[in-house]
Amino acid sequence: MTHYYDQHLHTHFSYDSEANFIDYLENSSGYVVTTEHFDVANPVTGQTDAPNYQEYATEIERLNRQFDNRILKGIEIGYYQPQEREILDYLADKTYDLKLLSVHHNGEFDYLDEFVADMNFDLIFSQYLEKLSYAIDRNDELQAHVLAHFDYGIRLFDVTRKDLEKYEAQLLAIFEKMIAANLAFEINAKSTHLYHHLPLYAYAIELVQRLGGTLFTLGSDGHKLAHYQLAFDELKDWLKAQGITQLVTFKGGERFFCDL
Ligand SMILES: [Zn+2]
Ligand SMILES: [Zn+2]
Repeated sequence: MTHYYDQHLHTHFSYDSEANFIDYLENSSGYVVTTEHFDVANPVTGQTDAPNYQEYATEIERLNRQFDNRILKGIEIGYYQPQEREILDYLADKTYDLKLLSVHHNGEFDYLDEFVADMNFDLIFSQYLEKLSYAIDRNDELQAHVLAHFDYGIRLFDVTRKDLEKYEAQLLAIFEKMIAANLAFEINAKSTHLYHHLPLYAYAIELVQRLGGTLFTLGSDGHKLAHYQLAFDELKDWLKAQGITQLVTFKGGERFFCDL
């Protein structure tokens, strides 16, 4: 059994990162999978940001000869319903070891845009949950493996567990569909450690476990070396304390379990 490796990572193939594969390869052993941003109609840049697959595959092939086939291919699908056709067309002829499903924006703004912090929490969260729920409904077509950062829409808010409990019914419905769609639940280290949402993850994990969910991944969401496998040792111990005994990784579309 190989040791666990980061299931959410970006390089310069993502519009908002300048990291190189080598940064990660030289600071770890074992597999490195990158999940590059694919954001259609991205309000941050005013365009669709998609990794150049040909260049991505070519660079990985070249580095894999040098680094013992350690690099795997991945993508982070930023789902946006009005552009679903564009998403499916892009994905149709490409293969990935790991596909993350995310909602990053609503067509007008990205949920990490600074001004979102001053907007109404309930308005933003209910809108975001609706979009997340719809994205999961479309996973038959998207064929993603992991639901990434369930809290992305509210990262900029100081939220307590109590604030989330008001949305328990919606969250249960979302996690139930996630489990039915065989999507793993991601523990996002950036959310837990940089946006201080660890208590929200404790609550979400409780709900997923209550519904019988067993697929969990750990991802740093790193865009640079400093965030690679961020706080993983601490988070692994924390996950054990939450009753999680195994994490899952993906390769060639197959699942591999690692004991914690
Ligand atoms: Zn993301
Ligand atoms: Zn990401």
